[in-house]
Amino acid sequence: MEFYDWLLYAWIGSGLLVFPVLLLVSAPYGRHLRTGWGPTLPSNWGWVIQESPSFFIMAGYGAQWLRRRTWKGVQDVRSAEWMTLLLAGCWLVHYANRAFVFPLRMRGGSKPTTWVVVSTAILFCVYNTYLNAYALFVREEVVRSGRGVDASLVMGVAMWAVGWAVNYHSDDITRQLRRARDRSAKAGTHYAIPYGGMFRYISAPNYFGEWVEWCGFALAARTRTAWSFALWTFCNLYPRARTNHQWYLATFPEYAKLHRNAFFPDPS
Ligand code: NDP
Repeated sequence: MEFYDWLLYAWIGSGLLVFPVLLLVSAPYGRHLRTGWGPTLPSNWGWVIQESPSFFIMAGYGAQWLRRRTWKGVQDVRSAEWMTLLLAGCWLVHYANRAFVFPLRMRGGSKPTTWVVVSTAILFCVYNTYLNAYALFVREEVVRSGRGVDASLVMGVAMWAVGWAVNYHSDDITRQLRRARDRSAKAGTHYAIPYGGMFRYISAPNYFGEWVEWCGFALAARTRTAWSFALWTFCNLYPRARTNHQWYLATFPEYAKLHRNAFFPDPS
């Protein structure tokens, strides 16, 4: 077993360990911010600081890889190499939104976050992106698989795009909610029940969309590392979706009548 494999299995193990902890203790930011977790900072800055390493590490490994190639023209590039670039492109689109667009659009209308959350998120982003970038650009796992464009790539990228759209649209609904309310009430951080989109069925469609995104990415990449990220996303976001769902039920008496699930939509 190579050192990389040890790093990967340690990563998968820590995701599985974090899951039960997060079911019991919610991360102290946003609506679950509470005292006793140390100093805070504005949440939009928190998002930029904690998520931008994921963008820059992947972009850096990708740029180095491109420089090493001696392509003579488009015809010389094998489809597995295009697939590698496509996967990195999906990654960069996601993190350009999360690290720069999402915090810019919040415009301060959000509760602070804590340095504890920001530092653990930095660790998460650096480790996770390093593993994925290394698999794509140093171990060249997709290139070496010798795959051509196949069904799992097409289905995976389509699933990634649907997940991304659900995530983006759901974040947009909560953002509009906050802004509309603030404009009329001239107040800080109000909460209201979100309606529309996947909120019809679940309390945390942004989290569900994000999980679908990384499952699609893993299906398209077919690397263990990409699956480890999908697993981690679930371990991280499912517990918070449950806590948010319970919070909605406790905060808004009428919420129970909406018959929403926490994370998984009910197909019936
Ligand atoms: P939330 O939905 O809790 O909050 C997003 C924004 O909307 C915050 O500004 C929040 O304000 C506001 N908001 C949320 N609900 C309401 C409401 N009912 N009324 C008014 N405003 C509301 O999401 P997170 O902050 O936890 O996550 C943001 C994004 O980051 C999501 O898309 C998520 O998928 C992603 N993420 C990914 C993780 C991963 O492991 N891959 C981990 C964590 C997040 P306030 O902050 O004041 O509560």
